[in-house]
Amino acid sequence: CGIVGYVGHGPAGSRPLDVVLEGLARLEYRGYDSAGVAVAGPEGMSAVKRAGRLDNLRAALAHSPLPPGTAAIGHTRWATHGGPTDENAHPHVSFDGAVAVVHNGIIENYPELALELDRRGIFRRSETDTEIAAHHLALEYAKDGNLLAAMCRLASRLQGSFTLVGMAGDSEVVAARRNSPLVVGLGEGENFLGSDVAAFVGSTSDALELGQDTAVSITADEVTVVDFEGRPAEGKRFEVNWDLSA
Ligand code: GLU
Repeated sequence: CGIVGYVGHGPAGSRPLDVVLEGLARLEYRGYDSAGVAVAGPEGMSAVKRAGRLDNLRAALAHSPLPPGTAAIGHTRWATHGGPTDENAHPHVSFDGAVAVVHNGIIENYPELALELDRRGIFRRSETDTEIAAHHLALEYAKDGNLLAAMCRLASRLQGSFTLVGMAGDSEVVAARRNSPLVVGLGEGENFLGSDVAAFVGSTSDALELGQDTAVSITADEVTVVDFEGRPAEGKRFEVNWDLSA
């Protein structure tokens, strides 16, 4: 339902988590039943997710704080496949722990993708279509260690609607979109992703709207847009006009 992504230079700290929680709070108006975040830093990648209000997530984070990071992703879920439980909440971490994924929309061909995972003996922990994409992204990522290329290969296999975001380390977040919105926020030494500009409007008003069937990689200093074949593509630059006092 709502998506936020962030990458900065660091030093590793709480800014990625703060940005993501702030963005998720601004996206609350869309409605949701669960929320979660994953942070990546020098100590690795960890995720916390809870059914219910953002306050449930905040309480869980207060109880078991995440380590400092330079990148983060967050999600508010509107359940379509699997009920609103902690386990079904996003992010979904792959079987090998290599990637974390958040997703808006519905992956229509998830049953056939799930069968492939079954044949490989990869077990699922949730009832979501999204978790299947997490495992497949990890399988693709393992082939060449190129997260954007892995996301493109996966996206070209997916049917349905998705804004799919993946994180594998602490210096890059990637995303792909079809029939579901994705915007990039351009910062100074930091960049943002969102399902809409509410995700990052507190931090930058310089934004890039991504076209249908495109993918993007953000690092602290670079934004790379490609189509699902990996060919260079362009987003539409615009200025966010948002009254923060409203
Ligand atoms: N289909 C996914 C799920 O049920 C994503 C739902 C959403 O857009 O929040 O987990």
